[in-house]
Amino acid sequence: MAIHEKSLIETERLLEHDSLVVDGVDVSGQWNTMITPRTIVDYDDDFEAKIQSYVGGEYVHRCWQCGSCTNSCTMYAQNVQFNPRYWIYLTRLGLTDELIKDKDIIWQCVSCNKCTNICPKDVKPEGVMKALSHWLEEEGITEKSPSRIFDEEFTDQVYDYGRIEDSKVMKNFFKESGQPLVQGWLVEFTKRMIKRLPVAHLVRLGTNVVFTPKTKSWGKTGEVLKAYVREQKEAAHG
Ligand code: SF4
Ligand code: SF4
Repeated sequence: MAIHEKSLIETERLLEHDSLVVDGVDVSGQWNTMITPRTIVDYDDDFEAKIQSYVGGEYVHRCWQCGSCTNSCTMYAQNVQFNPRYWIYLTRLGLTDELIKDKDIIWQCVSCNKCTNICPKDVKPEGVMKALSHWLEEEGITEKSPSRIFDEEFTDQVYDYGRIEDSKVMKNFFKESGQPLVQGWLVEFTKRMIKRLPVAHLVRLGTNVVFTPKTKSWGKTGEVLKAYVREQKEAAHG
């Protein structure tokens, strides 16, 4: 029988004869594939609990490995290396080194939530993908993802002003994520917007870019909000 997810097994552990006949039966190639056993010693006992402490990772323990999440996954359809079921399995076993091998694709989850809708155990696999991405970033194993940079810019503006100014969020996001400030789609979008918006609205937009508006009486609220978020994070991650 063909071994599905063969790509997940180290090549040196796969034994296969290109040409083999046993008792007159031709079992060449994948028909004689064997996997050498291995003893796992490099696991982290506390890792499942750690991922449960992130928003989205709370229900990872419920997974029964049915594979529905991977079957329905938008990213798996593009790239079979993107495999939520497998990463949830590794999380439960605490095999962090194996997870780190896939650090460059775990963050690619597009949050379509097909996996979350189909999961019979209500694991919320999308949340687990986000939790794993955040763990990789916080451990310094990966660079901040574009979505993380965007979230931080958005949150900082809420802390500082009590609201966000779209154009400023975009400008700072492009800058922080190393993207050019002038992009074709943005120029076209702006041109079309200018054509359709009333002049008074455009003037207000322009003024907001220069003088970022603030929620009335925001005062110390931003500091209180920051302290609260910090406390919540410390309580969750220790
Ligand atoms: S669909 Fe749910 S239960 Fe099934 S493998 Fe994915 S996370 Fe686990
Ligand atoms: S939310 Fe992420 S993991 Fe879930 S189906 Fe969509 S791309 Fe796949």
